Amino acid sequence: MKADLHVHTTASDGKLTPREIVELAVRKNIDVISITDHDTVEGLGEALAAAVVYPSLSVIPGIEISTDVPSGEVHMLGYFIDFTDKDFLKKLNVMRSSREQRARAMVKKLADLGMPVKWTRVCELAGEGTVGRPHIAEALLEAGYITSFKEAFNKYIGKNGPAYADRFKIFPVDAVQMILAAKGIPVLAHPTFVSDLKALLPTLKKAGLVGMEVYYNNYTDDVIRDLAGLAGKNNLIMTGGTDYHAFGEDAEVMLGEALAPADSVRRLYTMADKYCLGLIEKYSQP
Ligand code: AMP
Ligand code: FE
Ligand code: FE
Ligand code: ZN
Repeated sequence: MKADLHVHTTASDGKLTPREIVELAVRKNIDVISITDHDTVEGLGEALAAAVVYPSLSVIPGIEISTDVPSGEVHMLGYFIDFTDKDFLKKLNVMRSSREQRARAMVKKLADLGMPVKWTRVCELAGEGTVGRPHIAEALLEAGYITSFKEAFNKYIGKNGPAYADRFKIFPVDAVQMILAAKGIPVLAHPTFVSDLKALLPTLKKAGLVGMEVYYNNYTDDVIRDLAGLAGKNNLIMTGGTDYHAFGEDAEVMLGEALAPADSVRRLYTMADKYCLGLIEKYSQP
């Protein structure tokens, strides 16, 4: 079974629309994808609708919620969320408007640093989707202030960069609770980005964390082995995905090149069947 459970679309900072992702997944003979856009569920309707005509592909409705810890950011994936849940949507709206204010603040700081980019251009680049730092990076690249996408983060808009601005902060435990309240399954994304992972995991587990991404993007066998050990210790389901954005960079890990083990996917579907919202029967299963 080929299951890529971490994919972005134009609903956040991905370059392909939900429909294009579905079509690409079908061409690549992938069995399961989850659409996990940053702090938004807006791509899910289109992805699920597009997948209806492809019985070979199952789409898990998902999200990736950005949270903060003193040492940096922690991203929480939520699978099989009820994306019609009113409280959930209300919280996402607060996060969305905070993202916009924050992006405006970064654009202002860049102008003060002598690198004016037009706010309207950043919005155009974000399109319908939630605005994020990658859109600002792209605007900087277009304007010729930098020569690579990475440079934007390394020099200016990375967490400690001179043009960085904070967004509305929530803690990782809040995201776990938010996902559970929307009858979803919380899974920790790219755990190597978390500096105090060992200390954080028991707290998250207690809050209801179900899984952890062990097979991610370009993780090496050594990293995977370490993470698998931690997942085992904390009794977490080992999931996997590419975090595909279709950025078009040379080194980009392509859709379907990091996969969740079949057994883990089955466990997620079983849990969804038992504990999730009953929407599950609407979705095709692998
Ligand atoms: P935001 O959600 O606006 O804070 O932007 C976070 C997104 O920016 C991530 O999901 C990545 O797509 C991208 N990103 C963050 N840090 C870097 C980096 N150092 N290099 C390239 N892209 C990055
Ligand atoms: Fe992203
Ligand atoms: Fe992430
Ligand atoms: Zn992601």
